[in-house]
Amino acid sequence: AVDPKDVNISNIPYIKDGWFMELNKELWPGQAMGLEVDQVLFYQKSPYQDILVFKSKTYGTVLVLDGVIQCTERDEFSYQEMLSFLPLNSHPNPEKVLIIGGGDGGVAREVSKHPAVKEIVQCEIDAMVVEVSKKYLPNMSKGFSNPKLNLIIGDGFKFMEEHQNEFDVIITDSSDPIGPACVLFEKPYYELMSKALRAGGIIASQGECMWLHTKVIKNVLDFCAEIYPTVDYGFTTIPTYPSGQIGFILCSLNKDTNFKSPVRIFTNEEKEEMELRYYNEDVHNSAFALPQFVKKELER
Ligand code: SAM
Repeated sequence: AVDPKDVNISNIPYIKDGWFMELNKELWPGQAMGLEVDQVLFYQKSPYQDILVFKSKTYGTVLVLDGVIQCTERDEFSYQEMLSFLPLNSHPNPEKVLIIGGGDGGVAREVSKHPAVKEIVQCEIDAMVVEVSKKYLPNMSKGFSNPKLNLIIGDGFKFMEEHQNEFDVIITDSSDPIGPACVLFEKPYYELMSKALRAGGIIASQGECMWLHTKVIKNVLDFCAEIYPTVDYGFTTIPTYPSGQIGFILCSLNKDTNFKSPVRIFTNEEKEEMELRYYNEDVHNSAFALPQFVKKELER
């Protein structure tokens, strides 16, 4: 473990004059989310990526991998709840769930709240992300201490090659398609997931931003349509992801699945008990209503 006072800020290329800047010429040229830094808590390279954790002035603690914001304490619930409950509530009985990636623990936290879920397996490639999250992001990483969860450290693609006909829902909470997450945006991975699902199974994956990445989204949706009878793209709003929006690729082996209309609706008591802050049935239904320019760009 690194003591925050031993971190040399001048070694961190993403922080200048007290501001973290999310510059990325490949993924979002010409724009950058900036957050004012209160204190740097951790900065180290793992075998897979460089990991930065800092306390921001206005968004709580922030986890950054290879210079890209993964989550902030203030707005993470929007992403974690939607990536979890859009697929789980589109499945009639999601008993066994697989999470790929998700090293901060937020998706595990949400999935473990769902009343139908009995067993969760999670495969994250980078043990250091998990350890750092346990130390600096306790409200997310508490997902790891749920007794339903079995956490495996390994490559999600390799894991998928070794499992067939096992899961009701597979959630891929990956970083962007550069570095170790590249393979998780390609057709072979989606083919493997379709085999790892039980009959009627559903997948949901981090699906990039409609203001920036319609080409990537269209490519994934097009090859998914060759594998799954039902394919859709939903989204959530979130201030600290590029352009304030991030989408989800949803596919089902059941041709009758309608992602726009959940098969399970949480009661008000359930929503209170589960401490939901973003997800409800209205947000679920509207998550798939796409603006006209997006519909056109994604047209098959
Ligand atoms: N919500 C975040 C976002 O959209 O930017 C992603 C959060 S989560 C921290 C992403 C995780 O995916 C990281 O911890 C990373 O190590 C993991 N990951 C990347 N490639 C992976 C792979 N091939 N197998 C398993 N996990 C992977």
